[in-house]
Order: sequence, then structure tokens, then C-alpha cells
Amino acid sequence: MSMDNKDSSDFIKDREIEEILSANRRAEPERVREILAKALELKGIAMDEAAALMMVSDPDLLKEMFEAASKVKDAIYGRRMVIFAPLYISNLCGNECLYCAFRARNKEVKRRALTQEEIARETEILINRGHKRILLVAGEAYPSQEGFQYVLDSVKTIYSVKSGPGEIRRVNANVAPLTEYEFKRLKETGIGTYQLFQETYHRDTYHKVHVAGKKIDYGWRVTAFDRAMRSGIDDCGIGVLFGLFNWNYELLAMLQHIRHLEEVFGVGPHTISVPRIEPAVGSNLAEHPPAAVSDIDFRKIVAILRLTVPYTGIIMSTRETANLRRELFALGVSQISGGSRTNPGGYSEAGLQEDTEAQFSLGDQRSLDEVIRDVARLGYVPSFCTGCYRLGRTGKDFMDLAKPGEIRHHCDPNAFSTFQEYLSDYASPETKTLGEELINSVMPRLEPEIRDMTKRMVDEVRAGKRDVYC
Ligand code: SAM
Ligand code: SF4
Repeated sequence: MSMDNKDSSDFIKDREIEEILSANRRAEPERVREILAKALELKGIAMDEAAALMMVSDPDLLKEMFEAASKVKDAIYGRRMVIFAPLYISNLCGNECLYCAFRARNKEVKRRALTQEEIARETEILINRGHKRILLVAGEAYPSQEGFQYVLDSVKTIYSVKSGPGEIRRVNANVAPLTEYEFKRLKETGIGTYQLFQETYHRDTYHKVHVAGKKIDYGWRVTAFDRAMRSGIDDCGIGVLFGLFNWNYELLAMLQHIRHLEEVFGVGPHTISVPRIEPAVGSNLAEHPPAAVSDIDFRKIVAILRLTVPYTGIIMSTRETANLRRELFALGVSQISGGSRTNPGGYSEAGLQEDTEAQFSLGDQRSLDEVIRDVARLGYVPSFCTGCYRLGRTGKDFMDLAKPGEIRHHCDPNAFSTFQEYLSDYASPETKTLGEELINSVMPRLEPEIRDMTKRMVDEVRAGKRDVYC
């Protein structure tokens, strides 16, 4: 008998959120500065302190808050920026999420589930561009013959493809909530992070925007990570779809979710995603989000998360425009997607069917090479690292290394070696020159012990060795 019924969504406490918001309505400069000083100790801040930061609007104080977030980002992540690509395997869906183009009743989208051969072709293209990390994405309906096995087979297919000197070394998955049994099977495929966004933690809003299909069950979704953790998937990625409900509420509810996972499993999420609603074919709601988040508030969200949960990766998709991405890197974003398509088959058939099969419009249409060049020009080292997951440093083991800052001994060398691998095997001449200059200028500034290791690994890659990690 499954234990799946024992979960309840009680850990999202509306009353507590209301009380915190009303007790922290004013952002006194003195208190804000105290909170920022505390955050600079890299141990995070409490929920009521995060709430006080949400209220900051004075430009000078806001500037101080952004500077503090940048310092925390820099202290923990240095100049690294992890790069991944989403791979949409299917847009079949039985749910009616009013903001999404894949919703079941949307007749404007042509339905398609890629075959395993098509998935292999998409994977090959991503490998040949230089990707090492894929996020598999699917709607919540699988081809009838295969059922959930379709997802498992797809992960295996992606891992099986080899092309030239490359392969995909880590597959993360963003698929609908599973039972414990299904999570166990997903884990067996060698999945990295299991990612799932609650969309909105606000129950009434949740029910207004999810009107049919399995996804109407708020509790089943919000307890998905409990089942994942019990099934051995300790690397989880949470998120909110910003624009559905007041972002202050959403941030505090997400912090309650994190607190719950830490209390019950001893480890919080590995990553937080911060998507904002983008226009989607056949969705009025996506055209006019009920609680649209402005660019300035979006910067605040990223900065507050960075100050509150300093060791949790923040993921931004390609959905944000190139200009805003630049600023958000400095404030706290640590992972981005590059050269993405959101329609199944979108890499093999670039330019075709994007209007009729894609999930949402992209704010950033650049190729991976352009994204990498841009990231490098801004002084960040693009990282294709998959070391932790392959060496079993996940969940609590990862956090035990991350919190005292020791993870840098792995992350920095791995970022440089995988970036060098990209430059040697895939970059355009312009990107290669720029990237190698960056490596040569940033490497000497690393702490001596880390620098020596990094140099050794980069030299090995330059001499022809591949997949060098520690
Ligand atoms: N079907 C699964 C689910 O809903 O959890 C997983 C895949 S779904 C395509 C992945 C995410 O896309 C959703 O969780 C939602 O946050 C996001 N999404 C849907 N419509 C969007 C839109 N118009 N703009 C931005 N993100 C959107
Ligand atoms: Fe389906 Fe996910 Fe889109 Fe909802 S968000 S319609 S579940 S693909």
C-alpha cells in the first residue's frame, strides 16, 4: 500500500504569512541595514526579515540591498554561471492551466510527442552545440501505449546518445508530480534534479487558474517533493510562476515550503526557479497576468532569495531578455538556459512550428554560442559542470559541503575545465578567443589551493583530455 496519502499541505500557513506581512509593513532604514549586515554573514535571514526587505522602495536603500545580494552571490558562486538546455519531449497535456499553451482545450496548439528517435536527434543537436546538461520537460499526458514509461525511456535515450567528443552528463526533469513508486523508477534512470513549480502557493488562486485535469489537486502537487525525497531523490528544484498572485505572499510561502523540507528531510531544495508568465498561444491569462511582476520587483525577488537562502541555486530561463539577465546575474542568478526552444522538436526543426507548438514566446532568441560569449564578456565563467551529481554529492551531502563554503574547491575547477572543454570543442573563433582570455585573467585570482587544481585540470583539457572533473 502506498504511503502517498499521508501528506498534507498544512505547512503552507496562510495565517502566518498574513501576520508576517502585516508586522513588517515598514522598512525602517536602520533595521534594513541590520538585516543586510546579517545576510552578509552568509547564513541566511529569517522569514520576517525577508518580508521587511520586500518593503524597501527608497532608491538608496534598494541600492544597498542589491549591493549586499551581489556580495553574497560573489562570495558563494564567484564568477561561475551554470548553463543548461531544456528539451521539450511532448506537448500532450490533460490539464487546463489557464496560462499555458499546452493546456488540454487549446485548439491552437498542434500536439506532438517526440519518438525516441526524435529525442535522440534533438539530443545530438544539443550535444553538438556543446551542451552537457539537459532539462527534460513534458506536459502531463503520455502517449497511451507507453504511459509513464515514456518519460523513463526518454531519459535513457538522452543518456545513450554520443556524438563527436560529447555526451549529455546530467538530465534533470520537469514533469508532473509522481507517486513514490514512479519517483523510484525515475531515480533509477540516473536523473539529476527533479524540478517542479507550485505555480502559486495561494490556494484560491491555484484553483482559479487550474480548472481541469489532475493538476487541480493543490495538495498532491505541493507534497510532490516529500514523495520524491522519500523515494531517494534528494535533489529537488522548486519554483513559483510569478504573475499569478502577489509576489510577497509567494516568496514567504516558498520559504515555508523550504522550511518544511529542511525540517522533515534535513535538506532544502537544491535550486529555486523564478519564471515569470510569458505570452502563450491561446492564453488570455498569459497575455494579461493578474499579478504581473515589474522588472524592479523581479530584481528584488532575486536579491531577497539570494540573501535569504544563500546556498540554493537560482535558475532563470531564457524567458527573460538579455538585458535583464545581465543585471540578475549580479544579484543572484546562478544557472541559466541558453539557446532554448520550447516546442517539441524545436532544435531539429528550428523556425518551424514555433508559433503553433511552443509553450510560450521566448524573450531571448540567441544561440548558445552568443549566450556564452555574452556571459563571458560580462566576466562570468560559463560552467557545464556535472561533477557533484556524478560523484554522489547531492541532497544533504551537497549542503554539508556548500554551507561552510567548501564546495568551491570543486565548483571552481569544474567550471573552468568544462568551459575550456566547450571552448576547445564547440565555440566559434570569436568566443574561443574571448573565453580563453577570460580563463587566463580570472584563474590567477582564485585562492591558491583552488587555483592550482583548476590550472591542472584546464591544462589537461587543453592537452586533449575530456570529462575532467573533481
Ligand atoms: N506539465 C508539467 C507541470 O505543469 O508541472 C511540467 C512541464 S510545464 C511545461 C513546466 C512549467 O512551465 C510549468 O510549471 C509552468 O510554471 C511553466 N509555464 C507554463 N506556462 C507558462 C507561461 N505562459 N510562461 C512562463 N512559464 C510557463
Ligand atoms: Fe500542462 Fe504543465 Fe502546461 Fe499545465 S503547465 S497545461 S500541466 S504542460
